[in-house]
Amino acid sequence: MPNGALPDTRVLVDRARTALERCGATHLPEPVGAPGRARTPITGQDLFPVEFDTPASAEEAVSAASHAFTSTWRDTPAPERGRLVHRLGELLREHKEDLADLVTIEAGKIRSEALGEVQEMIDICDFAVGLSRQLYGRTMPSERPGHRLMETWHPLGVVGVITAFNFPVAVWSWNTCVALVCGDTVVWKPSELTSLTALGCHGLLMRAAADVGAPADVHRVVLGGAEVGGVLVDEARVALVSATGSTAMGRAVAPKVAARMGRYLLELGGNNAAVVTPSADLNLVVRGSVFAAAGTAGQRCTTLRRLIVHEDVVDQVCERVVDAYGRLKERVGDPFEGSTLVGPLVGERGHEAMRGALERARADGGQVLVGGGRRLEKEAEEAFYVEPAVVRMPSQSEVVQEETFAPILYVLSYRTLEEAVELHNGVPQGLSSAIFTQDQAEAERFLSAAGSDCGIVNVNIGTSGAEIGGAFGGEKDTGGGRESGSDSWKAYMRRATNTVNYGGELPLAQGVEFL
Ligand code: NAD
Repeated sequence: MPNGALPDTRVLVDRARTALERCGATHLPEPVGAPGRARTPITGQDLFPVEFDTPASAEEAVSAASHAFTSTWRDTPAPERGRLVHRLGELLREHKEDLADLVTIEAGKIRSEALGEVQEMIDICDFAVGLSRQLYGRTMPSERPGHRLMETWHPLGVVGVITAFNFPVAVWSWNTCVALVCGDTVVWKPSELTSLTALGCHGLLMRAAADVGAPADVHRVVLGGAEVGGVLVDEARVALVSATGSTAMGRAVAPKVAARMGRYLLELGGNNAAVVTPSADLNLVVRGSVFAAAGTAGQRCTTLRRLIVHEDVVDQVCERVVDAYGRLKERVGDPFEGSTLVGPLVGERGHEAMRGALERARADGGQVLVGGGRRLEKEAEEAFYVEPAVVRMPSQSEVVQEETFAPILYVLSYRTLEEAVELHNGVPQGLSSAIFTQDQAEAERFLSAAGSDCGIVNVNIGTSGAEIGGAFGGEKDTGGGRESGSDSWKAYMRRATNTVNYGGELPLAQGVEFL
């Protein structure tokens, strides 16, 4: 067995049921649509059936959220809306373990990462509650006497939130907590792989709504796949579609929303790299890279996929990273086990993608230095436990330019910093990046406009594990959206510019004379 025995699926069923009950999600949705299933990547087995929505029931959810918006929520004072998110934060603290159970059971995340993900939700609740008193508009000096010029911010309407399997709760909370304090209502379409986790979140939010007297329809959850998500994409009453997932998904969604003049916010795939210069502290490089590349079994949008190392230190870096990976091999297994560092891939598709990518990398002259194998156990044929791989590549061939959602770290070498930046930016995606260096000039060059072209640019830390306070997102094929902290709330509101004439005269702007 990988890192000890896997738990019995029946134990996981009981654990999921208990967590759902404790989160207030005892009643699965009415059987309105095609039957879905909740599955666990831990054993690869089904847990129990889940009723997916139909397009018609998803439409109904949009109608309900739209009514809640116009009838109450948009006119509820923002600090009052903040009380709902404050209460949600309290319930999340109380049910941190329950929600983390659901995340581990459905997404396969190791315990500390699942708990960390729920902590991220708690943090964003705190952030959004503060924000509910800080939705500032500017006042500018008017060029006309007796006039005031200012900007005010108003809620948009219904926000359709579509999320990926790999951050099944945090990404929902980034969107939902901010949208709710901004005065929007939300219809959430979670990944079809994490329906139970979504029901747990929805159960807690409904309890919070009941506790503070907010309308229940400020939030609806619709379960299912692309067909159900498509309703949010096409429905004119959904003012903003915030979609997180693969670039392929974003390419399908964006033109449809644009065609109806809706707004979209895209958080798509990454192909993240770290540059290691000769002055780098190699202890930081090894620790930072191994967590970023192998953590979450390589299934983060910010996973480190390329290590671009100066030729003077590349052999040394490879040796040390391979050594660390050798120790990691023994810690692949049941994500509920305290000693496990790498849980399962979410499913067969990820495993096939990994196998295929390694074959193509070898064909391109790559040398697999460590890992890459599947830990196949008779008792869990449908579960996909893999050994994270490190591959030394002679060039940034096509396979290196793609996001393979599995733990493969490609190592490339460079001679000059210009060459490193060119390699770094020479991929279609632009999410997260890092440089490891003790040379301030090198760090500044990487941070400058001529350096990394990503939305996240780090110095002496890895590419993953962002804090909620900064705006999160990336450029190019990553979609250009920003969620979570800083001023990303502006994406969830519309801006009105107001000119107020209190002077009794009617001077025209730019000195225009008329009548
Ligand atoms: P996915 O693209 O398969 O699915 C994401 C979501 O989109 C799911 O809810 C899915 O049902 C829905 N969907 C797919 N096609 C759709 C369509 N045509 N219309 C409406 N909805 C549709 O992604 P996944 O496998 O769940 O997640 C992994 C991907 O997500 C990776 O590429 C990863 O990099 C990316 N991701 C990005 C971020 C980020 O913030 N940039 C965060 C997490 C994950």
